[in-house]
Amino acid sequence: MVLEKITRVEDEPLKLREVKVPDISENEILVKISVCGVCHTELDEIEGRVKPKLPVIPGHEIVGYVEKTGSRVKRFNTGDRVGIGWIYSACGECKFCKSGRENLCYNFRATGCDENGGYAEYIKINENFAYPIPDTFSDSEAAPLMCAGAIGYRALRLTQMRDGDTIALYGFGASAHIVIQIVKHLYPDSQVFVFTKRRDDEPSKLARKMGADWVGITGDTPPEKFDRAIDTTPVGIPVAEALRNMERGGRLVINAIRKETKIPEMDYANHLWDEKEVKSVANITRKDIEEFLKIAAEIPIKPEVKEFKLEEANRALVMLKHGKYRGAGVLKIL
Ligand SMILES: [Zn+2]
Ligand SMILES: [Zn+2]
Repeated sequence: MVLEKITRVEDEPLKLREVKVPDISENEILVKISVCGVCHTELDEIEGRVKPKLPVIPGHEIVGYVEKTGSRVKRFNTGDRVGIGWIYSACGECKFCKSGRENLCYNFRATGCDENGGYAEYIKINENFAYPIPDTFSDSEAAPLMCAGAIGYRALRLTQMRDGDTIALYGFGASAHIVIQIVKHLYPDSQVFVFTKRRDDEPSKLARKMGADWVGITGDTPPEKFDRAIDTTPVGIPVAEALRNMERGGRLVINAIRKETKIPEMDYANHLWDEKEVKSVANITRKDIEEFLKIAAEIPIKPEVKEFKLEEANRALVMLKHGKYRGAGVLKIL
């Protein structure tokens, strides 16, 4: 499914095309794709808030099987199950790459954006940017772990959460419904507050089912202030809201590649003073994905998955945009 031009997602922008199976070089593997997850970043690419190469095959939550290996490939054999995430490559030589921050590399290349991704039958990638998938997960369950889960894990780490802290989740989609499971596992004495868009919408029902201690909508004032917050929404208001409701010394992490609307004007005394902090999360490192897959298998994380066929990618993305399913959407290709 190929994106050829920037447009509204309602215009069915992805076209089913016959594309040549990629040739691999000596350090690359060819992967036959089984499942690719649907991520909000695809909406940002299609609608032009993030600039992809064009034409591009989107998709960066990939699970598949190694079909061919280059002559110098050491980590994988034909038939191995692998995952591929948002990091397609990084330079390996800059100050960021050399200090464990390859996510900030100026030559970071993103899967399904700068390089062709997983809304397809095949992808090629350098073997060092693919990961073995723990047996605990089916292909469909594993796909959302590759971005929603792994970047959710990175966001959670960046909050500097400790057991006993209360954490707020603004937005409860593919990523947050995995984050709540990590929080319950790693921080059993912590409370989780969830804010969704509309009262009693599908995400809020899922949040209650998954053990949220309090569920409200953005704009509500929760029963007590929280210490940590993660904002996964595509809009600006929750940034100000999270800071307004935050305890002294708290930290907000914004897990969104772009915001569709402006962050409202804030008041220094109410929103930022008292040593409150704001941090964004950008991209992902290989270490994040590897660490997260291990923790995910230990817990084990159970993603709630809604399956679509590859040809239904446009419909899946429109449904994602309008919050019409809960949990994580995936395209079944094999
Ligand atoms: Zn993603
Ligand atoms: Zn670099």
